[in-house]
Amino acid sequence: MKYISTRGQAPELSFEEAMLTGLARDGGLYLPAEIPVLSNDEIAALAGLPYEEIAFRVMWPFVSGSFAEDEFKGIIARAYEGFDHAARAPLKQLNENHFLLELFHGPTLAFKDFAMQLIGQLFQVALQRRGDRVTIVGATSGDTGSAAIEAFRGLDAVDVFILFPHGRVSEVQRRQMTTPADGNVHALAVDGDFDDCQAAVKDMFNDFDFRDGVRLAGVNSINFARVLAQVVYYFSSAVSLGAPHRKVSFTVPTGNFGDIFAGYIAKRMGLPIERLVVATNQNDILHRCLSGDGYYKGETIPSVSPSMDIQVSSNFERALYYAYGEEGRAVAQLMDELKSGGFDVSQGAMEALREVFDSGRASEEETLATIKSTLARSAELVCPHTAVGIKVAEEHRSAETPMITLATAHPAKFPAAVEQASGVHPPLPPRMSDLYERSERVTRIANDLGAIQEHIKGHISA
Ligand SMILES: *Cc1c(COP(=O)(O)O)cnc(C)c1O
Repeated sequence: MKYISTRGQAPELSFEEAMLTGLARDGGLYLPAEIPVLSNDEIAALAGLPYEEIAFRVMWPFVSGSFAEDEFKGIIARAYEGFDHAARAPLKQLNENHFLLELFHGPTLAFKDFAMQLIGQLFQVALQRRGDRVTIVGATSGDTGSAAIEAFRGLDAVDVFILFPHGRVSEVQRRQMTTPADGNVHALAVDGDFDDCQAAVKDMFNDFDFRDGVRLAGVNSINFARVLAQVVYYFSSAVSLGAPHRKVSFTVPTGNFGDIFAGYIAKRMGLPIERLVVATNQNDILHRCLSGDGYYKGETIPSVSPSMDIQVSSNFERALYYAYGEEGRAVAQLMDELKSGGFDVSQGAMEALREVFDSGRASEEETLATIKSTLARSAELVCPHTAVGIKVAEEHRSAETPMITLATAHPAKFPAAVEQASGVHPPLPPRMSDLYERSERVTRIANDLGAIQEHIKGHISA
């Protein structure tokens, strides 16, 4: 499988090259040149299989050519062995026709472990084979960073630098990033917000001298390998509710549009998904855009669901690429307009988006009220991101089609908001219960590209 850029001006790469590169050199995002389709029989045959086997069958057409079959099976097995639930992504019923897909049974208690653990193993195998090493730089609104650090800590071919907005991640999130003792792990607290961190990472990738000098690699949600890993649980959950014979819908708490874009890929692969519902918090650029108001940046407002406090959703570029008929030049122009504030989506592209996506938003009050009501009605304590999803899902639920809401994090990752809403303090799982006692290691740094680049150059191992 060949991979192409959403902006049409970068060289075509293999899966392995696209994964190791992250952002394309024309500033675009990599996508498979064509999306493989599974037949109804192939989808039906996934029913009852272990998660790892479903993962292999769903992802194989995207990666073949870069890995051998047994090699890839080993990678998948190692990626998910640290999860504390045998089903990996278990499905729970909330009410008649509404289900929660629990994606928080990995090492850092959020769905990002699904992608990051896989990417860690993929990088290790690919780099070892090449006798190479890389510097991973990522920006995080909280959960990506800890997931990346858990996935790459201790790997000798990789240094990992994670930029997070100082004071804007939860204490659990911060401690998960600052307490690993491995020498190849570097947590940087930036004086800025998540969009500043993300912009700094983008700028580093566009600085080719720096990029080549430190052998920069990216694992942010722009990395297609991450999107791919997330496609798997759309299949596993839909099949367990009767797909391909029965349609399902999904509601996805969304920030960077990575997780929900994986659902879009699953749909294009032949999974009978009726609706994909984007759920945002008060940082609602995606909801505004899908409501027809254009894609215009606002101010990022801190919320109780901080992993979705995002104004520029990187992966939305991929959805736009398909909505604009796979025209790289059109996408490049929109992204240019975004630099000066935003753009209107053409009527044709809006129609294409609306064929697949719905959207809704939850205010802070609605999010907290949903945590409380979900506990009362279904005896489930949910994290604030999941609550945003549940609230929006209830508005889009139909009697005929089961709705699956993605439960993106464990409530113990956001104890303050959960306790404020419900009066219940969510305990950390036993394997993490000493997190508050571990010592922290972090560098506070100005929101200044030069300073960040100097720091990285001075701290890589090789
Ligand atoms: C990252 C994250 C999200 C948003 O996911 P995107 O792929 O960025 O849309 C939602 N909830 C939690 C808990 C997250 O960590």
